[in-house]
Amino acid sequence: MVKKYDVIVIGAGPGGMTAALYASRANLSVLMLDRGIYGGQMNNTAEVENYPGFKSILGPDLAKEMYESSTQFDAEYAYGNVEKITVAADNTKSVKTDSDEYTAKALIIATGSQYKKLGVPGEDEYGGRGVSYCAVCDGAFFRDREVIVVGGGDSAIEEGSYLTQLVKKVDVVHRRDELRAQKILQDRAFANPKIDFTWDTIVTEIEGDGQKVTGVKTHNKKTGQDTEVPISGVFIYVGVEPMTEPFQKLGITDEEGWIKTNEKMETAVSGIFAIGDVRKKELRQITTAVGDGSIAGQGVFSYIESLKD
Ligand code: FAD
Ligand code: NAP
Repeated sequence: MVKKYDVIVIGAGPGGMTAALYASRANLSVLMLDRGIYGGQMNNTAEVENYPGFKSILGPDLAKEMYESSTQFDAEYAYGNVEKITVAADNTKSVKTDSDEYTAKALIIATGSQYKKLGVPGEDEYGGRGVSYCAVCDGAFFRDREVIVVGGGDSAIEEGSYLTQLVKKVDVVHRRDELRAQKILQDRAFANPKIDFTWDTIVTEIEGDGQKVTGVKTHNKKTGQDTEVPISGVFIYVGVEPMTEPFQKLGITDEEGWIKTNEKMETAVSGIFAIGDVRKKELRQITTAVGDGSIAGQGVFSYIESLKD
């Protein structure tokens, strides 16, 4: 049986949960679908210290707080890996997951982004066996050992700093000679005696013994020097890409796959909104995802009211 809702929110990260809160508080029937646990990227974040109201809070704890708020006005939450969206002639939206089908008057896409791979030999082979994209999940496996962090953005520097609480030493390998990360994160990392930096250097291969990572090959872009570095853990933070595969055919994405919206979070398709990291935008943060979510949560109410005219 196809279940019907006023609004379906796809993705239960901070953006989706906020949209569900606003829409359900406006008395709309709301379903939040997620293919993982609620919280999105917050589950991969050690400490959040730039979300107002908390001096510092663990990412998964903030996720739980948000989930409790977002479901207090009866928004439903269900597992579902959304695979396809179709829009009928009367503008009803159908959402197909791997196991169910739903319809709604309006959709809010909040599927966020996922880590990019480095794309070097050994990366896939040793995934989960020394190669990681999540310090919070895997850091403890490298207790008192040395690890490499690849990247120079907020994720690399913040998660690299977190790792120093567990590991003996972190070597940040970055392809340029300056970091992209926020200044406060840089200052802390430079002052941390357990963090070293290898500048102007790329990782060209991850090596292992068939079971686990044993080292990496690096190449210095300025000197041309190739080096073999023995290491057991490689944490990769080289950026993110949008999770928009199920929405490609709707014609709402740009050439890189990010969803284009106006200030009301409306996409090019009437009644389909997009919020948070999945949008084409400048600043991808929990606060900005939450802000987008409130605008779309209010926007769907106006949209559904307008259908009554
Ligand atoms: P997400 O949090 O990415 O949530 C998207 C959800 O959609 C996920 O739960 C996913 O499972 C679900 N989904 C995706 N595709 C589908 C599908 N097809 N079907 C069903 N569900 C789907 N920001 C800060 O403000 N402070 C920080 O300290 C901070 N630290 C960070 C540390 C790391 C390592 C990373 C990677 C990011 C960090 N960020 C931080 C950024 C912040 O986490 C994101 O900006 C924020 O989570 C985006 O929220 P969102 O709701 O748009 O998407
Ligand atoms: P990012 O900002 O895109 O940074 C990616 C880093 O990886 C850059 O330093 C980039 O180098 C490097 N890189 C990219 N491709 C590479 C390759 N093929 N080989 C080697 N290095 C490569 O991504 P992010 O750090 O994951 O952050 C994603 C988003 O989440 C950002 O919007 C960020 O602000 C947000 N975030 C926020 C916080 C926070 O507020 N505390 C924490 C984490 C993340 P270049 O610098 O040379 O381009």
